[in-house]
Amino acid sequence: MNYQFGVDLGGTNIAAGIVDSEYRIVHKASVPTEAQRPAEQIAASMAALCHQICKEFGIGVEDIDSVGIASPGICDHDTGVVVYTNNLPFHQFEICDLIKKDFPAKAFYIENDANAAAWGEAIAGAAKGTTNSVMITLGTGVGGGVIIDKHIFDRGVNAAVAELGHMVIHVGGRQCSCGRRGCWEAYSSATALIRMTTEKIAEYEEVFREESDQKAKDILSLAIPGLPTQNSINILQDSDICVSAGSACAKGHRSHVLTAMNLRPEVMDGSFRVSLCRDTTQEELDALANVIKNDILPRAR
Ligand SMILES: [Zn+2]
Repeated sequence: MNYQFGVDLGGTNIAAGIVDSEYRIVHKASVPTEAQRPAEQIAASMAALCHQICKEFGIGVEDIDSVGIASPGICDHDTGVVVYTNNLPFHQFEICDLIKKDFPAKAFYIENDANAAAWGEAIAGAAKGTTNSVMITLGTGVGGGVIIDKHIFDRGVNAAVAELGHMVIHVGGRQCSCGRRGCWEAYSSATALIRMTTEKIAEYEEVFREESDQKAKDILSLAIPGLPTQNSINILQDSDICVSAGSACAKGHRSHVLTAMNLRPEVMDGSFRVSLCRDTTQEELDALANVIKNDILPRAR
């Protein structure tokens, strides 16, 4: 049996997985990105990780039909080049050719990470069976991917469509990694949550002793995924729209979209990528305050 490879280049970790013909991930592993390194070293780590998981799974490079690389930023899949990323040192970087030197698989393909995630959900995940869907990825940044008529919507003139994380939600607001101010990413990415927690840490120290009170809600309400999510849905409204946030997915018709828009804890994946955009219950606040205490605070300090 031959396999496909998926490699996700993240701001924090590089993750790679082997996928079988039924789109099942049969083996996976990850290593830290160490994003401050030169791009060539990061690419070398990606190739080394590919070799590692091949060895662990007991197959060779010849058993791999293709390698799909998901990268943040603007990706040109015709040339295999990362044109530009905000959060990594990749500028006009020929990533496919470089990895291929160390890991000579038959075919390579590169795609923006949120587009790749949207496609993955569309063919094998939460949006399977739908015609149109929207993926919102909350991680180091905020990414967006759009599937229209069962195709990735990525054929813009500069391969930079569906950058939903860079829609401005506060004119003149917080500085974003893209150079503008007030983008969604500046409020709802993990990076933003850590920064905002750091800024508020003295004022809200008691939150982390008491685990939950009104001030926990104040911190979390700074991250506001609901408004831009709703904007995305209004632009792309369709009865089959699926919204995914991290691993949180809801599919189907409008009631499910509304559920996802509110990012209810029961559809979250248990990571720190949580935000509030509506009135919350005390139980939810307790859970979210624990997330701040256990996941965000150690990284902010
Ligand atoms: Zn931005």
